[in-house]
Amino acid sequence: MRQFQHYIGGTFSDGATQFDSRDPATGAVWAKMPEARAIDVNAAVKAARTALLAPDWANMTATMRGKLLYRLADLVAENAHSLAELETRDTGKIIRETSAQIAYVADYYRYYAGLADKIEGAHLPIDKPDMEVWLRREPVGVVAAVVPWNSQLFLSAVKIGPALAAGCTVVLKASEDGPAPMLEFASIFDQAGFPPGVLNIVTGFGPECGAVLTSHPEVDHVAFTGGPDTARHIVRNSAENLASTSLELGGKSPFIVFDDADIESAVNAQVSGIFAATGQSCVAGSRLVIADKIKDEFLTRLIEKANEIVIGAPDDPQTEVGPLCTQAQLAAATELVSDSIVAGATVLAGGQPLDRDGNYFPPTIIDCSKAPNAPCLTREAFGPILSVVSFETEAQAVQIANDTAFGLASGVFTKDLTRAHRMIRNLKAGIVWVNTYRAVSPIAPFGGHGLSGHGREGGLQAALDYTRVKSVWLRT
Ligand code: NAD
Repeated sequence: MRQFQHYIGGTFSDGATQFDSRDPATGAVWAKMPEARAIDVNAAVKAARTALLAPDWANMTATMRGKLLYRLADLVAENAHSLAELETRDTGKIIRETSAQIAYVADYYRYYAGLADKIEGAHLPIDKPDMEVWLRREPVGVVAAVVPWNSQLFLSAVKIGPALAAGCTVVLKASEDGPAPMLEFASIFDQAGFPPGVLNIVTGFGPECGAVLTSHPEVDHVAFTGGPDTARHIVRNSAENLASTSLELGGKSPFIVFDDADIESAVNAQVSGIFAATGQSCVAGSRLVIADKIKDEFLTRLIEKANEIVIGAPDDPQTEVGPLCTQAQLAAATELVSDSIVAGATVLAGGQPLDRDGNYFPPTIIDCSKAPNAPCLTREAFGPILSVVSFETEAQAVQIANDTAFGLASGVFTKDLTRAHRMIRNLKAGIVWVNTYRAVSPIAPFGGHGLSGHGREGGLQAALDYTRVKSVWLRT
């Protein structure tokens, strides 16, 4: 059985205790994970604080930090295969997706490597002839990064990359569900040549490991990705210490199709928009908002494609939808569908767990036209469940799309350019994709508002958010 270790202060160690990791495709225990308790978390934060102040990191030039991040990006690319395999094994995310995503992970590290020496201060033209005033940008300090199981290598890269580019040090808590890829990443990071303690990686359970980390008095900033309920804990934890936070949370993103849209392209985008990552994606286009005129044609094509999706073992390259990560996710998906049926919704495809080992739930489509209060319209499924509502007018489409406490992503399919612009203006979301869905780039900021959180990952702004400004006044 594989055994994994924590990475603290540049050395690998066992946790205070261990816990089992289950293969989502079979339900069998396949690895032992170290469990970080308070003692391990305290050691990791201490290592990060020591590294922050140590001359080999504190005095390292931004150019040199960039070089180390380039080296890390190369190492990630060299080890892409084994990282993807481990992520697939421990989380059930299919191998096609983990293999494709790991290339992005290397790109994000490269992007922040290039940004390291472009995080500039400013000279201020103060109205005093004998005074020089400028702004220095300094690292915010020790960062606690907390990530969920889905896409951990990616979700940690968008935190570690900008934080290290800015000169911070990091303690990353990998999810207790599927931590293997992050613990393996530690050994890759270790080869890049960063001073010990610049990055520390632990895993463990939220209420102990996560809570001790995010409330730690030596943590200056908490970068969190996960659900809104956990985010409330995180904000309360960090409030004790008044640490700043950035929160990347869930979504209930509308996928809006007008009657002039290219139907084939919209259907294909909707299929991957909701069923990729088995629906376990914060930006999943989980509410189809469809023009009445084309509803029947669109749904016929969509259901056909949903039923053709190849469901199978996550390590099989032919598989298009794999298992959900945990049994709890499977139970939540099942409950969401049955609660929605009780509320009057109609299941058009899928709807029940598959009768086989592992956490398999099929691509599911639910018509909520006669069930405006169906919970699948408001509750994040984090599974392959698409709810459908229709509209007659553009104003109705906007009203339905914005009828959510979340505000992460949205998609609009139309050939009418002026309408596209009106939708861009009126949609309540941090991302609007027009005639495309799910496109990402290290250069483009990513994030939402409302129950989807605050702060942005990706782009220059994310690196600036890991700095704080010092105003300097010098009498000449
Ligand atoms: P979660 O909130 O349950 O857990 C996320 C992390 O928080 C885990 O590492 C967990 O151990 C930790 N945690 C739990 N309780 C804690 C506590 N009291 N204090 C500190 N840490 C604690 O999320 P999940 O169920 O693992 O992941 C799914 C959620 O993540 C969904 O809502 C999804 O939309 C969201 N998500 C958002 C994005 C984004 O970029 N916006 C990306 C991926 C996932």
